[in-house]
Amino acid sequence: MLNKLIFNLGILIRNPTYTKAFKDLKSTEFSSVEDLNQIQLIKIKKFLSFVNENSKFYKKKFKEAAIDVTQITSLSDIQCLPIVSKKELIDFNDDIHTTPKVKFKKTFFSETSGSSGEALTFYKNEEWDSYNRASIARGMSWYNVNPWEYNGYFWGYSFSLIQKVKIQIFDMLLNRFRMFSYSDKELDRFIKKLRKASYLHGYSSMIYETARLVNAKAISLNNLKLIKGTSEKIYDHYHEETKKAFGKKIVSEYGSAESGIIAFECPNGEMHINEETCIVEEVDGEILVTNLLSYSFPIIRYKLGDFIQLSRKKCGCGRNHRILSSVLGRVGKNIIGKDGEVFPSLTLYYIFKTLALEYDIKLNYKAAQYNSGDLNIKIDSQVNDETHNLIMKVSAKYFGQALTVVIQDNEVIHSKDKKLKDFESFIE
Ligand SMILES: [Zn+2]
Repeated sequence: MLNKLIFNLGILIRNPTYTKAFKDLKSTEFSSVEDLNQIQLIKIKKFLSFVNENSKFYKKKFKEAAIDVTQITSLSDIQCLPIVSKKELIDFNDDIHTTPKVKFKKTFFSETSGSSGEALTFYKNEEWDSYNRASIARGMSWYNVNPWEYNGYFWGYSFSLIQKVKIQIFDMLLNRFRMFSYSDKELDRFIKKLRKASYLHGYSSMIYETARLVNAKAISLNNLKLIKGTSEKIYDHYHEETKKAFGKKIVSEYGSAESGIIAFECPNGEMHINEETCIVEEVDGEILVTNLLSYSFPIIRYKLGDFIQLSRKKCGCGRNHRILSSVLGRVGKNIIGKDGEVFPSLTLYYIFKTLALEYDIKLNYKAAQYNSGDLNIKIDSQVNDETHNLIMKVSAKYFGQALTVVIQDNEVIHSKDKKLKDFESFIE
């Protein structure tokens, strides 16, 4: 009760439009495809004319492409708008930010790290932030969970002492707890709290790691209503560990700081696109996302950098929001062969998928390339000769003679404060 009060009070102060946003999103949860498209069309028209008036960068882009945004009459019309990259969001940051005559009542500073190390910073208008929070809350409501319920949270944890104190105060207010290390004592403390929690969320690799430790102690819990994985690829074997430890698979939430929430998994196991807040397109296998609420820093046909697949199939849960049938991982740097052959980093995904499907070998891996023609793959468990040979065999199927693959087993592949990346290239 007290926690609900604190939550509502916090929202009232920080996100005045949250309550309206949540109500709004709940009201269209079971709307028809036509109605959802109509909502999108109304929103995109209003959004684009605002952007055209108030963002120097987009005004110029639209002009160059000879597009009159006031003439948009259907959703497919947006296909003629220019595509925007992360590099552009960084390089033309000032000109992308809008400068409306009537200033935003409130904005929030946001910072995300780029894969190349360069950070993207921007200001989010309050409504954008509220709709994003409300979208997460709507997804959680599908599991009968309210955001203010007691929860375990995983997000990087290389903290200084002062940071730790600050975080603990915030966590107390938000009715949540977290682990500050993987030590045995800390784990016991965490499990004790977890027994009283109603949901668990954060980086899926950390949830997985914790589930493994819980299983190693031969403990199993069945009180959690929801385990929500964010921001990272969720592997099939993660689910096996969490099911064993907590009786639940990891529900996936997909999005990014700049795009907002893009999709949320329903109880039927399908990822529904958050149609009320974004327009998702698939072009050459890659996702393009338009954030319909990003008035302060417009995100339009943004190349987020993931390979995806969309589906028009109807979900048994009754929601008509389009289904994102898979997120195949980052459009990363390429893997380079001895004679300059180029393989997309996604090849690794297919190799390990083949191993899992055809040979029932499930492995956690992380690959790195330091020189052309060499590929280093770290595995977090022991690899016997037979498995080793199979990895080599399947790799050769994809890479041929172009790469010398070296396997290192029993490696720690999760750095504690960063997202898990499948592949990193150190070739200039
Ligand atoms: Zn569904």
